[in-house]
Amino acid sequence: MSHRSKAFEAILSNAEADLRQLLSIPETHHVLFLQGGASQQFTMVPMNFLNESSIADYVVTGAWGKKAAQAAKLYGGVTALFDGAPDKFKSVPKISTLVPSPGAKYIHFTSNETIHGVQFQEPISSSVPVICDMSSDILSRPVNFADFDLIYAGAQKNLGPAGTTVVILKDEFLKSANSPLPPMLDYATQVKAKSLYNTPTTFAIYLCGLVFKYWKAEGGLPEIQKRNAEKANALYSAIDGSNGFYIGHADVSARSQMNVAFNLDKPELTDEFIAFAAERNIVEIKGHRDVGGLRISLYNSITPEAAAIVAQAMADFRSKH
Ligand SMILES: *Cc1c(COP(=O)(O)O)cnc(C)c1O
Repeated sequence: MSHRSKAFEAILSNAEADLRQLLSIPETHHVLFLQGGASQQFTMVPMNFLNESSIADYVVTGAWGKKAAQAAKLYGGVTALFDGAPDKFKSVPKISTLVPSPGAKYIHFTSNETIHGVQFQEPISSSVPVICDMSSDILSRPVNFADFDLIYAGAQKNLGPAGTTVVILKDEFLKSANSPLPPMLDYATQVKAKSLYNTPTTFAIYLCGLVFKYWKAEGGLPEIQKRNAEKANALYSAIDGSNGFYIGHADVSARSQMNVAFNLDKPELTDEFIAFAAERNIVEIKGHRDVGGLRISLYNSITPEAAAIVAQAMADFRSKH
């Protein structure tokens, strides 16, 4: 099947239409399916929108935002409006405290920091164009896309298989992009070609389209949000009710619904917990080396029943000790 065939055109346009409907993406915004992952967006964003004489503000609430800010420094001035590193990335700032630098071209957020398990609870907005890495919480809760100029998300957490990267880009903001640029890295070229400048990741897009249809049939974002709240609540309750046996990494006000990062009060029991959980088929829960401890990811594909099983394992392990 050619990627320029009628059949694939239908797959691509249906995937876009279903995503637009699920997320209520306004007509002012383009939807692209690109390659290179979120990491390539760390570079594409400043390459398209910064230059030596301009600056951008970055709100650094975890490891991914730090990488994004680092990449932007190659293209222009970067101000860290907030840097959670000294506090071990446990919190997010209040949106109203983030005053953009004079003349800032844009402000960049990471709505959910995957490794540290911190997530903005307040709606993100600013008086300057807002760019957001939503790789690990897109399609998990309602978002007002009209407040954003550019959103990007690697597909592999909540949308579908690895390989494609969704970019949601406001047309008005695109008009302020640099030109000329290498075509593959130029948003204007990709918009003009409707994600078909070259062969896109056809199979990943097809599968994402099936995921979008599944969620539409399940009740869309309200239902997804409800399930995610239930899942996160089960695990945070297990932490909060443990009398300090489990210690959450994030401040309560910044707790992620997608990634629950926590430590054991007795860190020497961590490996035993991992083995205990594995016996119940709970796997891939070791925390990132930057945080240590454990991290339970609750992406959309994890059911409330599965989260309840993890919460039960946490309770049983605590009883055992
Ligand atoms: C996973 C992740 C990335 C990296 O995504 P790639 O597609 O592997 O480049 C970037 N940002 C966030 C928030 C992530 O969760």
